[in-house]
Amino acid sequence: MYQSIIQKFLAEQGYICLNPKAALIDMDGTLYDSMPLHARAWHQMMLEIGVEVPVDEFFRYEGRTGASTINILFNRAFHRDATQEEIQQLYHRKTELFSQMPPVSPMPGAAEMLDFLKAIDLRRVLVTGSGQSSLIDRLETDFPGAFTPELRVTSRDVTHGKPHPEPFLMAMKKAEVTPNECIVIENAPLGVEAGHAAGAFTIGVNTGPLDIRELETAGADIVFPSMEEFARALPILIYGFVTTMRNLN
Ligand code: MG
Repeated sequence: MYQSIIQKFLAEQGYICLNPKAALIDMDGTLYDSMPLHARAWHQMMLEIGVEVPVDEFFRYEGRTGASTINILFNRAFHRDATQEEIQQLYHRKTELFSQMPPVSPMPGAAEMLDFLKAIDLRRVLVTGSGQSSLIDRLETDFPGAFTPELRVTSRDVTHGKPHPEPFLMAMKKAEVTPNECIVIENAPLGVEAGHAAGAFTIGVNTGPLDIRELETAGADIVFPSMEEFARALPILIYGFVTTMRNLN
């Protein structure tokens, strides 16, 4: 049922087949329903320095490093980049505000998705733009055995955050796979853009307030309206990967 989508991807990328050995998985908005709280923390932090930014705008910046988001807002409000000191101070304050928010819940459907990936022995690699240790530290409790410590890429590991492909390229290196041996699972337009730029089959899961078309425009090969729907479709999608070869005629 997904053959035509997979064929299209193979033709676009010039691959003969897609043989997934690893799933490169985003954290915020994908594994955790944390984005509404992140957006509120960002909004509050910016208000404290006198800049009003609509809460929903932060869903568009999701995946960027903190420094990159701060600089976009600084350039608009103050027509300059923030200094290193300001970035540190403001990102620290945002992190503090996030930590004071009510605890976030795992995304419904995420555990089922991870259980299936584990059952078919697909390596799971965490690829997050976040450096928020309060959430990263909870992974093992919420999703026991899903991620090993060496198969994680966080904001601390990369020079360029999403939408740059570096986080996903680094994840491929850690998992010892090529782009046609992995899939990317992302909820944010910039994350999708990064996965697509890294040459991987990129699955957009729309868990927030943005229009589903934003994920398609960003380069998602397929989009699901929720994590639960994606988890349900995943076995059929994986079966499609292993049975579809590029039509070379
Ligand atoms: Mg995300």
